[in-house]
Amino acid sequence: MTSSAALEFASLGSGSKGNATLISVANTCIMVDCGFSMRETVTRLEQCGKQPEQLAAILLTHEHSDHIRGAGALSRKYGIPIWSTRGTAQAEALGDISRQYFINAEEKFTIGSIEIQAYPVPHDAKEPCQYVFSNGEHKLGLLTDVGKCTPHIIEQLSMCDALLLECNHDSDMLMNGDYPFSLKQRVAGDLGHLSNQQAADILAQLDTSNLKYIAAMHLSDKNNQMELAQQALSAVLDWEESWINIADQELGLAWQQI
Ligand SMILES: [Zn+2]
Ligand SMILES: [Zn+2]
Repeated sequence: MTSSAALEFASLGSGSKGNATLISVANTCIMVDCGFSMRETVTRLEQCGKQPEQLAAILLTHEHSDHIRGAGALSRKYGIPIWSTRGTAQAEALGDISRQYFINAEEKFTIGSIEIQAYPVPHDAKEPCQYVFSNGEHKLGLLTDVGKCTPHIIEQLSMCDALLLECNHDSDMLMNGDYPFSLKQRVAGDLGHLSNQQAADILAQLDTSNLKYIAAMHLSDKNNQMELAQQALSAVLDWEESWINIADQELGLAWQQI
């Protein structure tokens, strides 16, 4: 077996106030989503030991503002190309982008040393997709902003070495909380977000024989608690609860490697 350069990843923060994830293989580093203002993004990048000039791409999952807020400005200021589906690229909030690449939601492509498999997901956006990243040897699966499981999701995320998996809400906290009814319906709906239990059900269907690392992503600050997400996922994997990492809104996740 050939040994590839390690696949490294970090989160600049995750949740409804902003999302951005770094993926790095050898000397290619890309940012997946850019949901913080440009200034905030640069600060958070520096905390991860990166400069915006080092980014080979901004790869978008969908056009909700918690995923694209700073993308257009960062792209323009530092000449970083934006990669996305055509549906996502239609977002007015991106502004004029001079360096742009279009992918389809099921495409396999590479950016520098990073192999990327896009896959479509049910979510209330124009053409949303999520991604599996690889260095040719190990796989990192990313899944957030998805309303329900599909057989295709299970196929894509099986055999991953690491998973970044949405645990948006606890269903009871959401239903008993103070969101207006229509928003509760949206969040819990098939085009909304995964509950802890839905995330656990997905995990239970995956082949996790290669899994060494998992982090719960996109936790709601009003409708979830870290411990509930940890309990739900650890029960499936039969891991200690403390082995379930949490990418929180402020701190994200420090660099990991597989
Ligand atoms: Zn989101
Ligand atoms: Zn979204």
